[in-house]
Amino acid sequence: MDVPVREVLRPGSVAEALDALALHPDALPIAGGTDLMVQLRNGRKNATTLVDLDRLGLAGLQESDEGITIGAGTRMDAIAADPRIRRLYPALAEAAAQIGAWPIQCRATLGGNLANASPAADTAPALIVEGARLVVASTAGTRQVPVEDFFLAPGRSALTPGELIISVRLPSPELGPGLRAVERFVKVGPRREQIISIVSLAGRALVGTDGTLFEVRLALGSVAPTPVRARRTEHLLTGRRPDAELRREAVRVLQDEIAPIDDVRAPAGYRRIACAVLLDRFLEEAARG
Ligand SMILES: Cc1cc2nc3c(=O)[nH]c(=O)nc-3n(C[C@H](O)[C@H](O)[C@H](O)COP(=O)(O)OP(=O)(O)OC[C@H]3O[C@@H](n4cnc5c(N)ncnc54)[C@H](O)[C@@H]3O)c2cc1C
Repeated sequence: MDVPVREVLRPGSVAEALDALALHPDALPIAGGTDLMVQLRNGRKNATTLVDLDRLGLAGLQESDEGITIGAGTRMDAIAADPRIRRLYPALAEAAAQIGAWPIQCRATLGGNLANASPAADTAPALIVEGARLVVASTAGTRQVPVEDFFLAPGRSALTPGELIISVRLPSPELGPGLRAVERFVKVGPRREQIISIVSLAGRALVGTDGTLFEVRLALGSVAPTPVRARRTEHLLTGRRPDAELRREAVRVLQDEIAPIDDVRAPAGYRRIACAVLLDRFLEEAARG
């Protein structure tokens, strides 16, 4: 199918882009185009006007005492390679490094991955366990939205018409004395590259010197209409050592609290088993020290 686009606006600042979106309510923003061009071609989205975000200066990372802010236009290859992200937020670095394959990672932006609002968006579970917040703006002003509250349904997010994601704020990870952080993102798909996740899991926990887990956070992709937190499983694990018995119990609770569906990529039963394997691997790593 032909792309319906007849006009591409190329604003030079965020203010100009927001004005353009306010003036053209049917226009869609475009960043890397790796999702949007496919959707325009197959008719899942329709727009005759696009607002290109490439010249807004939204790419790049800024560090402060409060953490790291990643511009919405930052591409996955830059996130995956950044030494600060790899050291402080390894789940996000691992997620960015597993999006599509290298040519996609050189185009795909963080803002686009989130705004597309897919339940399989790989950066979402990582950002949820890291406690990240989105900064979004429109001509009416700026607001912040926790990533955890951003996804409403497949393809639908908390963004209102005319709003843009400007950046993603990651809080400084806090480590108490004698604690180490364990953080991972893992996904399952039919092959290593160019796959949409059948299931993904991001986990973060602080581990005491005797192996006790604190502040456990688990988030999953592709097991519900939106990326989700596994709060009951987190609660079960917090304050305990992940020995073999607790790990078995955690897998049971996790399988009980998710509600995956059958779809073209995998049956629900397969997703339940895959979740169990990913959780067990994360807990094994946390226990290893
Ligand atoms: C071959 C292939 C493999 C892929 N593999 C993966 C994968 O493994 N994991 C994964 O998660 N995804 C994957 N994707 C999907 C896609 O690459 C990512 O979701 C990507 O991050 C989208 O970013 P983009 O910059 O290309 O967004 P675009 O396609 O430009 O935009 C996506 C949507 O977000 C909106 N948008 C973009 N930026 C903003 C913004 N700043 N504010 C508000 N709205 C905005 C657009 O209007 C559009 O609706 C794959 C895609 C392809 C084609």
